[in-house]
Amino acid sequence: MIKQYSGIAPKGDLLLIQRLCDKLQGKSFVHVNSTREGGGVAEILHRMVPFLNGLGINTRWEVIEGDNSFYEFTKKTHNALQGNKEKFTRKMWNHYYEVNEENSKKLKLGADAVLIHDPQPAPLINFRSKSSKKRGQVWMWRCHIDVANPAGSVWPNLKTYVKDYDAAIFSVPKFAKSLPIDEFIVTPSIDPLSDKNRDLSEDEINEVSEKLNIPRDRPILLQVSRFDVFKDPIGVINAYKIVKKYNDCQLVLAGSPATDDPEGEEVLNKVKEYAGNDPDIHILLLPPDCHKEINALQRMSDVILQKSIKEGFGLTVSEAMWKEKPVIGGAVGGIPLQIIHGITGFVVHSVEGAAFRIRQYLNNPEMSRNMGKRGKEYVRTNFLLTRQIRDYLSVWYSMKNRGKHIIEL
Ligand code: UDP
Repeated sequence: MIKQYSGIAPKGDLLLIQRLCDKLQGKSFVHVNSTREGGGVAEILHRMVPFLNGLGINTRWEVIEGDNSFYEFTKKTHNALQGNKEKFTRKMWNHYYEVNEENSKKLKLGADAVLIHDPQPAPLINFRSKSSKKRGQVWMWRCHIDVANPAGSVWPNLKTYVKDYDAAIFSVPKFAKSLPIDEFIVTPSIDPLSDKNRDLSEDEINEVSEKLNIPRDRPILLQVSRFDVFKDPIGVINAYKIVKKYNDCQLVLAGSPATDDPEGEEVLNKVKEYAGNDPDIHILLLPPDCHKEINALQRMSDVILQKSIKEGFGLTVSEAMWKEKPVIGGAVGGIPLQIIHGITGFVVHSVEGAAFRIRQYLNNPEMSRNMGKRGKEYVRTNFLLTRQIRDYLSVWYSMKNRGKHIIEL
């Protein structure tokens, strides 16, 4: 499997993966999250799990299950961790714990490394078997969301679980927290060989444009995101409306539902209402496995936005950059790690800023092409799946060798 990436991913990453795999050969690795479809975490796991198995690391992916009130609560915690004021009761926190307790009875968590993604399954640490530490089992909590400025008591409550892990992993240095455990920074990644990112022929792109009814006769602005207020779809429409006064163009907002996001429908309805009956605004609700369609949409677009007001990382930015597209992103969370302002894209702080940069791109095709090219190389060096696998295995291996100053591979 790793051979397929040679010539695409940096050589050093492939070499390190190979060395780490020699050390971890035959060991088991389990990932746990809260949805198999929708959002960046599922996107990465779909590609990472088979890759790790192909490398000889026995890897499984478990998904916790809960009732509606569990998902409503975890969405609230997600919003509060990203800075929104939310009301919580003790009863809600207790239910959250109980759902995790139920899941702990069903899930197979006995593995050499356990990687728990995000807050939904965080309390599973309480059900770790007593002998697991002695057996060298490593439990890691991986946070994908923007926890730089949580509101109220949500973080202190969550911390009661996080502090019991062996290590915590964040996407961006400023998300790191004061914790009594080891902390690591690992940025997410995209898979260049997935249907979402592989090269497409012009025929394949045209087929999708016809199927989705998006004419290619005028410039296309695109944002691909779950319908979530933090992704600011209304701000994107406002930026488009400013641009439209000067440059003829169309806007595509493509989203898909995530099973662990109960607010999506409400936001989608608001967006539809706000867009009104402008025939040049295309709002697409695609099933979550429409990877080739998203790929084609990204490839047929002239400018790609991720105008988030809070963002863990924003895989859609790297996806667009990999396709050599000019990108505009909100200056939040992991977006500025990907967009080096003025070099691989533009970061913006307002609707007006977004509109200004869209026009700059549309009016300067050569500048857009050059930034797109630099963007692709930046993603190649920093944000491909192989680099993230290298990092996860490194964290695991260094936790296994805790206390050593030098770890030889
Ligand atoms: N995505 C998709 N279809 C959609 C909307 C999003 O396939 O209609 C994918 C998108 O291409 C990206 C992931 O879902 O790979 C979203 O990840 P990101 O980090 O941008 O945001 P998150 O949803 O995790 O906050």
